[in-house]
Amino acid sequence: MAARHLIIGGGTAGMNAIRTIREEETERSTITLVSAERPYSRMVLPYYLDRSIAESHVFTATPKILAGWGVTAHVGKRATALDTKANVCTLDDGTKVEYDDCLIATGSSAVRAPVPGADGPGVHSFWTLEQARGVIAQIRPGSHVVMVGAGFIAFTILNSILALGATLTIVEVAPRILPRMIDDTGAGLVEEWLKRHGVKVRTGARLTKITDAKGRQKLSFPTGGDLVADVVIMATGIRTNLDWLKDSGVRVNQGIVVDEHLRSSVPNVYAAGDVAEGRDLISGANAVHAIEPTAQEHGRVVGANMAGKTVSYRGSLIINIVEVCHLDVASFGAWEDARAETASGVKADRPAYRKLLWRGERLVGAIILGPSSDIWTTNDVGMLKGLVQSGVGLGRWKAHLKANPFDIKPAFIATKTTSALLPETILGRPSKAPGETPVAV
Ligand SMILES: Cc1cc2nc3c(=O)[nH]c(=O)nc-3n(C[C@H](O)[C@H](O)[C@H](O)COP(=O)(O)OP(=O)(O)OC[C@H]3O[C@@H](n4cnc5c(N)ncnc54)[C@H](O)[C@@H]3O)c2cc1C
Repeated sequence: MAARHLIIGGGTAGMNAIRTIREEETERSTITLVSAERPYSRMVLPYYLDRSIAESHVFTATPKILAGWGVTAHVGKRATALDTKANVCTLDDGTKVEYDDCLIATGSSAVRAPVPGADGPGVHSFWTLEQARGVIAQIRPGSHVVMVGAGFIAFTILNSILALGATLTIVEVAPRILPRMIDDTGAGLVEEWLKRHGVKVRTGARLTKITDAKGRQKLSFPTGGDLVADVVIMATGIRTNLDWLKDSGVRVNQGIVVDEHLRSSVPNVYAAGDVAEGRDLISGANAVHAIEPTAQEHGRVVGANMAGKTVSYRGSLIINIVEVCHLDVASFGAWEDARAETASGVKADRPAYRKLLWRGERLVGAIILGPSSDIWTTNDVGMLKGLVQSGVGLGRWKAHLKANPFDIKPAFIATKTTSALLPETILGRPSKAPGETPVAV
């Protein structure tokens, strides 16, 4: 009998797994997809927000494409229980789906600050397409938007809010912006840049409640200085969608704990993407990396393993890259490793900063920021990521970089980092063109 694969979650990880199964299998299997939402990419929602793309462009597969792949789709339905002894998944309408192996790729959900009024009208999260529609329906030119939370996701939508002609205030409970992406020095430079571009920023600000103010939203703080907003966006974090797995026997820590083949504690149950707690490329320890590249790579590795190949995963590199008001800001790998050897530099004439972190001769993390118009910013983002990802020994170039943290290129070329990276592929073969679908494998 043909193998029966069940994919739970139609986001980046799930869709990459489906494509890869079809690419890698030697015998045609049956694939069933259960997904609470239509397959789309959350990462492109900022471009939908500012109307750079139409809503139709966020979707990664239509019903016709899924049918073409031979996928039986239960879209708009949720998995509510997994019986890993009987190999049966129960859906919210009572449907039971039997499987030989299954992938849990249910991603994460936005979490709001636990304050009175956080669920009121005019208060939004920005994680799903539905939530993006809610924000689009309310923002007008001249609207005052207050964004609660100054983390990575807030920064992915910042340009779009400004492009819509809104004014923006960011409030953050931590003493600085981007607390989980860059250090104090970097955050100070970005904050200064935002203020110069008309964005108001309040750090160390603990929101206590949101109340109605004649159809607008009043945000209160213990130190005073209430804000009144037309639209409030809560970008206050995410949590993995794992509650439905209670009693399944699948081992869960921060996420579903997976091995090098992305198998969970139940051998025929895999996990990928935001819900998976897999190997971190730099530390080797398990971690949840809720970013797009990890979801793609996990999906491909799981797809190949489900198709009968044995593919191991080296681990994922944490990568955060955003551009705000034409300032590029990025961090890679172990950028906050307190025990690493470090070197850093700030330019006096412009907001440009580099911080490099080593363990021995290996660059294990980096922070970089600079104006997008500065050619070195863009080039250095790519080269620093390459140096961290490849883990090449820097030899005498370590001393050069320590003395000249802005002079990345000679070290990148001399250490032949490109040659180290080129043969590296996720599935041990070159990627294939996406053909008629937007999901390349
Ligand atoms: C606005 C925004 C901008 C972003 N920008 C970037 C960026 O620039 N770079 C970057 O690396 N990352 C970015 N991300 C993060 C990135 O989108 C996620 O890491 C990625 O989507 C994770 O993919 P996934 O497949 O694991 O989960 P998701 O894409 O979240 O997919 C999960 C799927 O599972 C479904 N589901 C959930 N529960 C159930 C259930 N019980 N039963 C059935 N189906 C279920 C959901 O409906 C969804 O279809 C961004 C995210 C957002 C929201």
